[in-house]
Amino acid sequence: MNAVRVASVAWRRPRLRRHGKVTVNIEPKPPTTKGPAATFTGDVYIDAIASPHDADQRMVVVRVRFAPGARTAWHSHARGQTLHVTEGVALLGTREGGVIRARPGDTIYTPPGQEHWHGATPQDFMEHLAMLENGDDPASTTTWLEHVTDSQYGNSAQA
Ligand code: MN
Repeated sequence: MNAVRVASVAWRRPRLRRHGKVTVNIEPKPPTTKGPAATFTGDVYIDAIASPHDADQRMVVVRVRFAPGARTAWHSHARGQTLHVTEGVALLGTREGGVIRARPGDTIYTPPGQEHWHGATPQDFMEHLAMLENGDDPASTTTWLEHVTDSQYGNSAQA
């Protein structure tokens, strides 16, 4: 009898505590934006998933969809970046040469300041989540450089 009572107490769902106003909501969905031609080649669409609510928050998460052949320009991130592939095959190139091919479920980390690009293969759409932290000045979060040329891209896509 005693044991039964103890078990039922142990399994009781914790009581929700309510204090102050409700602060948990479904986040509003900003419209999909097109990756600008200054920093992307081909058709790229960006959906914001998470962005800072307060001045001391830095987390930014976006879903990025690349049409076949589309890619970012060369760039680096002040605090690094984590990419998680959700569809297609992602190509990621670095200055050291060579290209990483990542598939759905794969995660790629690029350290702070490392110059790189990412994009789709010529044959298929690619989608990834990009997760990063804003720089002290959000404008410094990503430093954009020159475009990935067709020959650079073609060599990487064949590698
Ligand atoms: Mn990047």
